[in-house]
Amino acid sequence: MKHKRLLCCLTAALLLAGCGTADEEHSVVVYAMDTVMELKAYGKNAETALRQAEKELMSLDEKLRRGDESSEIYKINSGGAEVSPETAELIRRGIEIGRSTGGAFDLTIAPVMDLWGFYGGNYRVPDQSEIDRALEKVDYGNVSVDGNYVSVNNGAEIDLGGIAKGCASERVMEIFRENSVTSGIVSLGGNVRALGNKPGGEKWKIAIQNPDGEGYCGTLEVSDAAAVTSGGYQRKFERGGETYHHIIDPETGRSAKSGVKSVTVVSADAALADALSTALFVMGLEKGTQYWRETGGFGVVFVSDNNKIYVTEDIADSFRSDWEFEVLQR
Ligand code: AMP
Ligand code: MG
Repeated sequence: MKHKRLLCCLTAALLLAGCGTADEEHSVVVYAMDTVMELKAYGKNAETALRQAEKELMSLDEKLRRGDESSEIYKINSGGAEVSPETAELIRRGIEIGRSTGGAFDLTIAPVMDLWGFYGGNYRVPDQSEIDRALEKVDYGNVSVDGNYVSVNNGAEIDLGGIAKGCASERVMEIFRENSVTSGIVSLGGNVRALGNKPGGEKWKIAIQNPDGEGYCGTLEVSDAAAVTSGGYQRKFERGGETYHHIIDPETGRSAKSGVKSVTVVSADAALADALSTALFVMGLEKGTQYWRETGGFGVVFVSDNNKIYVTEDIADSFRSDWEFEVLQR
């Protein structure tokens, strides 16, 4: 009898332990791609999945570091190179999004970024003649991908800063799934990608930063999707009373001045969300809304220069804000 009771207690304890591990949170912070990355996963394989994800992020970082002679991007930018299938695929996607956005997203923006000092942090305002010369090299049409061989022509140089983090978070999701993790979330700078729902079944709540400072200007509820924000406030410098930020209009070679402070794109495809957040920031509200109407697979939150928010109708139900906002119809 005593034995039986002990067995019962043990079974109950094991069941409780079982419940605990099902929802147990594991997290890791990784520094890669010049970004603090926070990864969270739940459940019994979470620790293994996070360890693999961390390794993958470090490996992607090594491949894509444009300033590092041993990186795949450096080798491509030196003329051409056979690269890993992941890098070739990422570049193929970058070119495709370049085409579909009419060049608002251009993965060959590197010579212009360099000119403004965005790589080393030695910020400066270049002359128009320097900008014109750098712009001659900017054209995604100067990049060719043949299998896994990527080459550049006419002095073009690749910069994947506008899409790489989205792609990296998508890779982390794959690793989570391979390990049977069904609930998790990663935040790579302004890039958030959620897997499934929260362990309790609720959707994930993602805050959109107030572009003017502390706190946030709205929240989005998502399930199994990415929410990626591009904002002029994220990297910038000031000279002579002017503010210059890191999102460049490939038409002018200068910080995009399109009437928006930030653009958040929601999509199940984090790489698409990342590239489009950059492209729609360049396009601004009017052209960006037009692009949203003509294409599909994503929703948008625009924060305009006068702090008005515009949300596309497909994600409006999941959006909350104390700020004034308008819903954009199809
Ligand atoms: P994001 O923060 O995702 O908007 O990306 C900004 C980064 O993408 C910059 O730091 C550059 O590396 C790169 N970039 C800037 N302007 C463009 C552009 N028009 N198209 C593609 N990449 C860009
Ligand atoms: Mg982006």
